[in-house]
Amino acid sequence: MKNLVVGAGLSGAVLANLLATILDEKVLVIDRKNHIAGNIYDYKDENTNITVHKYGPHSFHTNNGKVWNYLSKYTKWHYLFLKTNVIIEGNCVTVPFNLTTLHQLFSQNLANKFEEKLISKYGYGVKIPILKLKEADDEDLKFLAKYVYENVFEKYTMKQWGLKPEEIDESVTARVPIYISYDNRYFQDKYQGIPINGYTKMVENILNHPNIEVLLNTDYKSINEKFDRVFYSGAIDEYFDYKFGELPYRSLNFDIQTLNKEYYQKTAVTNYPNNYDFTRITEHKYFLDEKSDKTIISVEYPEKFELGKNDRYYPISNPRNHDLYDRYKKEAEKTPGLYFIGRLGDYKYYNMDLAVERIFEFFEKEINK
Ligand code: FAD
Ligand code: UDP
Repeated sequence: MKNLVVGAGLSGAVLANLLATILDEKVLVIDRKNHIAGNIYDYKDENTNITVHKYGPHSFHTNNGKVWNYLSKYTKWHYLFLKTNVIIEGNCVTVPFNLTTLHQLFSQNLANKFEEKLISKYGYGVKIPILKLKEADDEDLKFLAKYVYENVFEKYTMKQWGLKPEEIDESVTARVPIYISYDNRYFQDKYQGIPINGYTKMVENILNHPNIEVLLNTDYKSINEKFDRVFYSGAIDEYFDYKFGELPYRSLNFDIQTLNKEYYQKTAVTNYPNNYDFTRITEHKYFLDEKSDKTIISVEYPEKFELGKNDRYYPISNPRNHDLYDRYKKEAEKTPGLYFIGRLGDYKYYNMDLAVERIFEFFEKEINK
């Protein structure tokens, strides 16, 4: 079998690896970028020796032992629990908004009152999406929900999506729930970390097999050769020349700066819901605890995706877009041996672990039958 994988991001790399190692088949992997790893690409900055996440902060986390063990064959880990801050009324406090945040922002009496009410209504250790907390009928919890909604979610979401929290799929804001706990980590998954030599090296190792050939700076459109199977991890609407219309995406623009100081902020990521046009600032040296008398930050500006101007980063989940995606998917099913995979091919807001899990499932269900 001759296989073509379009896209050397995490999804494409894992699929190529399974085809090469389990089925012992030849795979050509192409990517139109000049590097592998797609959005998880990182590089070592020459001047500072700091590893930079070019396309935004990436922290690996999963509860899936199979995914963790698989990736652990290709990298060792720097064990890290991501901690994130948010600027509220000029104060740098913990996010996801939790019991620590309450005590950082409010007087002792008020914070104790909110804490008791949250624990007695929902229970300790419970996560409540903001849109659920807003439904509380208790006057104090209503006040708290309005405060968190306005100070953490409303303006951040407007910047990130161009829409209000109620106008986007509720699973999106539920990614960062109100957490009734003193656990200050951004994620609670069992396995968390950063590949010790970077994500790019991990993907390079996943692709490193005699059956796999990688061609960079190569767009699918430039391939004339015929393949038995094509696995496409790019955008499905682009593949079909937008014949049913464009699928919308959000994009980002990163202003990457080297600063002549040892540290800029207290944690890897600080969110700015209420001020400025950017959503967050990432300080890269925290991910691998790298030492330098300089530091590198990226300031992240959300944008609308526009063809030819910027890259696709986030699919926008809503019924209209899913219907449009389904039309393209039905069209794809007419061509035997053509498969769509990955965050763009599936039009799904996958974290890295879900991207890998989805490839495992796809491979077992569709290919290794
Ligand atoms: P991609 O990385 O997008 O790869 C697709 C590849 O296909 C690209 O390299 C592209 O160049 C190539 N391609 C597309 N079309 C063509 C074509 N026509 N011809 C040739 N090549 C083509 N996940 C986490 O688990 N933790 C995090 O902390 C986290 N943070 C994130 C932060 C940001 C800002 C973003 C945007 C995502 C984050 N993610 C995070 C999600 C993570 O980036 C994705 O799960 C992962 O990158 C998906 O990989 P993929 O291979 O599906 O897609
Ligand atoms: N969000 C927010 N304020 C924050 C953090 C997150 O409003 O301080 C909302 C926002 O809508 C965002 C979503 O929660 O798009 C998911 O946040 P996450 O940090 O998971 O975004 P990602 O890292 O995937 O960009």
